[in-house]
Amino acid sequence: MGDPSAPAQPREPSRRLPPDPVPAPVAAVDRVATAVITIAPVLLLGLAAWQAWNRELRWPDLVIFVLMYVPIGLGVTVGFHRLLTHRSFKTHAWLRGLFAILGTMAIEGPVIDWVANHRKHHAFSDRPGDPHSPHVEHGGGLIGSLRGLAHAHVGWLFKRADANANQRFAPDLLADPVIVFVDKTFIVWSLVGLAIPFGLGVLIGGTVGAGLAGLLWGGAVRMFVLHHVTYSINSLCHFFGSRRFRTRDQSRNLNWLAPLSFGEAWHNNHHAFPTSAFHGMRRSELDISGLLIAALERVGLAWDVQRIGLARQAGRALA
Ligand SMILES: [Zn+2]
Ligand SMILES: [Zn+2]
Repeated sequence: MGDPSAPAQPREPSRRLPPDPVPAPVAAVDRVATAVITIAPVLLLGLAAWQAWNRELRWPDLVIFVLMYVPIGLGVTVGFHRLLTHRSFKTHAWLRGLFAILGTMAIEGPVIDWVANHRKHHAFSDRPGDPHSPHVEHGGGLIGSLRGLAHAHVGWLFKRADANANQRFAPDLLADPVIVFVDKTFIVWSLVGLAIPFGLGVLIGGTVGAGLAGLLWGGAVRMFVLHHVTYSINSLCHFFGSRRFRTRDQSRNLNWLAPLSFGEAWHNNHHAFPTSAFHGMRRSELDISGLLIAALERVGLAWDVQRIGLARQAGRALA
């Protein structure tokens, strides 16, 4: 498979893999669960907007939102993505488990499914087999583009499942008892991620009503924002923005999304150098996840941190 004239990219495993052999419909129960997890935060966002409009939004609700968004978001970006998917640094088992638990609280699926899907995205990026490319099999023109973006953003979650994806793409995680434990207890951590903002609300406000407001902002609104930021990396960052490096896909850097995505929006940089712990590769490219990894390295909690030298960057740079 592949284009023999394309530049060699030995770090990406796509050339060793057969094209997606076992697509199957997503089970009905999974489709319903995904629908609930996707739609409920949208409806509750309406409630949050109504609360803000009526000036019933209080500062503790926003504090609880930030207290939940930041660690859970970093659980996805540093934990699920840079540590577990790409092995861009090493750390202690307890910290690996903690990152996996935090990422699980995002309710974007069990950790091993998440990693397998994302490795598959890199293996086939923007070619048949990519689970969420906006560019494959959606037709041309404006309608095709909109269909592609909708598929890449959220539609793909409902469409097809690769029954063997975890064995094919994440055998290392299936052999990691810490990660298998967090994967199997997905529902527990998802609920803990909702119980904490409720508890914080009660603690600060002293009433069940304050707890429910905390749950609304630290649970539903946080889920909505984090889901759609993550989805936007799959959709917008393969469609809009600039390209610094030569890659076989349509990945792009979308600077305005970098702060909220903790640096993941430097997505063209990432596709060019998937194992790099740092997606922001210039001082001007804000990369909060990279800053956290560098801080962990400084205090001895991260090691074997993968960096891409300037010469390698120059070798892939577009003019
Ligand atoms: Zn991508
Ligand atoms: Zn990646």
